[in-house]
Amino acid sequence: MALRWQLLKRTVDNAKSALRHNQPGISLSGYFSTSPSFADAPPRLPPFDYQPRPYRGPSGDEVLLKRKKFLGPSLFHYYQKPLNIVEGKMQYLFDESGRRYLDAFAGIVTVSCGHCHPDILNAITEQSKLLQHATTIYLHHAIADFAEALAAKMPGNLKVVYFVNSGSEANELAMMMARLYTGNLEMISLRNAYHGGSSNTIGLTALNTWKYPLPQGEIHHAMNPDPYRGIFGSDASLYAKDVQDHIEYGTSGKVAGFIAETIQGVGGAVELAPGYLKQVYDIVRKAGGVCIADEVQTGFGRTGSHYWGFQTQDVIPDIVTMAKGIGNGLPLGAVVTTPEIASVLASKIQFNTYGGNPVCSAGGRAVLNVIDKEKRQSHCADVGPHLIQRLRDLQQRHDLIGDVRGRGLMVGVELVTDRKNKTPAKAETAVLFEQLRELGILIGKGGLHGNVFRIKPPMCFTKDDADFLAEALDYSMSRL
Ligand code: PMP
Repeated sequence: MALRWQLLKRTVDNAKSALRHNQPGISLSGYFSTSPSFADAPPRLPPFDYQPRPYRGPSGDEVLLKRKKFLGPSLFHYYQKPLNIVEGKMQYLFDESGRRYLDAFAGIVTVSCGHCHPDILNAITEQSKLLQHATTIYLHHAIADFAEALAAKMPGNLKVVYFVNSGSEANELAMMMARLYTGNLEMISLRNAYHGGSSNTIGLTALNTWKYPLPQGEIHHAMNPDPYRGIFGSDASLYAKDVQDHIEYGTSGKVAGFIAETIQGVGGAVELAPGYLKQVYDIVRKAGGVCIADEVQTGFGRTGSHYWGFQTQDVIPDIVTMAKGIGNGLPLGAVVTTPEIASVLASKIQFNTYGGNPVCSAGGRAVLNVIDKEKRQSHCADVGPHLIQRLRDLQQRHDLIGDVRGRGLMVGVELVTDRKNKTPAKAETAVLFEQLRELGILIGKGGLHGNVFRIKPPMCFTKDDADFLAEALDYSMSRL
């Protein structure tokens, strides 16, 4: 086994330099002649007509040293040899040597429309040339225009927008509103959820890897309605009953609110059992609470079938939080709620210095325009099922793939060493993760056990990219 790995590593290392610029016409089959089982050429990145600028900055090794010296010890990086990514263009990234990678993770789902999208760049630079400071104390059209455009994307009476700078801030604000509005304290979130790393949102977050042992502040974690791993399979009502039980037996009978991602992101692209949110929203509202949808990863058309993830469950929340894709990489977040709920914040000064600053507002508005202009939602509805089908085909041939799930371009592939017990294939996931990078694919890794590939590329990801990804996974898995 060790010898096979050494051989594979050597052949991939050799192939790497040839793959670097993905020059058409380079045959890689010669690199794989060291062993008969490695005879197939590795799959190649789809062509892309773009030349990155020559990079003259510090090397990855130098950056790593500096990070270790000057940045917090909690900072982690992907890959045994961390990548020094210095340029991005649409769904591709370039490292310091100019090697191109397919970005299947979009900088943790932050880049919705593509790296350095020209329309968004243009909006940001034009606004930067004119004015950038925190301007809610003066008038500026950018924040008002952006709020109007965002409100137009919301259903029901979700018409009041607050801008913040991150997902954690958005969820902090949502939780504060829920508590003030209802007069209750207790919140319910789901196990396996991620809602942020700030001191309050870490209480909502239920993934132990991310959670510091701090007081959780009146938060209950309900059973995760995970159709693959959950003990009730896809039976939404049994999971919903757990929320009812928390309220009945764990609280005074009243709650401030319930929050859930509509597809769990960090938790490994877990779709909630169909019909779950409808039942839970009823239960929570009867207990005096409000319902919060965390759309930090699922919003803006990524699911393909809908613009917002909550629409896949046919509900309208009372508060919606968003970040990441809303800014195509800009530090930007938002909370949208009803005028009635928003009114509770009017009793004090509610202020966020950078929330809705002109540059981020101009950029955010450009993101909304690009998603519409380039029909990114329907693109996700087209490419997503193609990718999922390719991955399900692989599942037929590789026992390691326990589950393929997701919607649109929010996809999870869960690896298990045996399908019956669903034993997480942690080591195999880690090895394949490195292999995919060697082949030119940057993917996400997550789930409670770190055994889920998270595929959430920029929404300009194509069917050719999907084929390449599936072929690379097949190629690597066949050699495990
Ligand atoms: N909610 C969800 C669903 C997230 O995935 C994240 C970030 N991974 C957050 C909230 C927190 O966002 P941020 O890191 O911008 O604070």
